[in-house]
Amino acid sequence: MNKNIIKVNNLVKKYGYLKALDGVSFELEEGDFLSVFGPNGAGKSTLLKILSTQTKLSSGDVYFDDISVQKLPDEFRNSFGIISHLPFLYENLSALENLNFYGKLYNIGNLKERIKELLKKVELYKRRNDLVRNYSRGMLQRLSIARALIHNPRIILLDEPYTGLDQHASFILSEILKEQFEDKKTIIMVTHNLSIGFDLASKIAILNQGKLILLEEKEKLNKENFEQVYIETVSA
Ligand code: ADP
Repeated sequence: MNKNIIKVNNLVKKYGYLKALDGVSFELEEGDFLSVFGPNGAGKSTLLKILSTQTKLSSGDVYFDDISVQKLPDEFRNSFGIISHLPFLYENLSALENLNFYGKLYNIGNLKERIKELLKKVELYKRRNDLVRNYSRGMLQRLSIARALIHNPRIILLDEPYTGLDQHASFILSEILKEQFEDKKTIIMVTHNLSIGFDLASKIAILNQGKLILLEEKEKLNKENFEQVYIETVSA
């Protein structure tokens, strides 16, 4: 059990003649937390889009529980919680109404309690009836975290979730991610924040020009010189 919830095998994604991903392979076990670093244009977002089935791959394959992403049943998509730059929230609805909408989509039992628990976790409970269009960027991001987690997904995919967050929102996000990791969720996070990404992860990857140039258990790396290792690796 707990073997290879995600298997990426020689993954290639081409946009015209450009190879955004150029033969990426790795495996994750259930409960792994992979932080993916890399410069702009390295292919990080493309990787997340393929994993979350928003973009089709060009060649190679991706397996979830040994099922090819190309044959994945629709229900499997309920296993994903996705936090990206887009909040996927309805501006003219309140926080409560947004979560209610998503909760009903996923057919969640005891939805009222779940929404209350999540709104408290992201510290928006007091603002639950305010319209989302009046939320600050940090509040929107916190609500989109609650939205992404409402159905208790097994796999959490995050694309630069710390960008634009203030200290308070960053702290809340880190606490939630620690909790999800303890809960044995499988997490892949793309981030430019080397320090936070390093602290939270169990495995570290560096992507550069579409290739995975480092994939290592965090315990085999040293945080003190990781920034140096990163800079040397991507500029080599
Ligand atoms: P990162 O997230 O690491 O910054 P991306 O995955 O966004 O990198 O992009 C990788 C490469 O693929 C870049 O050269 C980018 O310009 C290109 N790319 C990404 N999406 C598209 C697209 N929809 N059409 C054409 N090229 C794209």
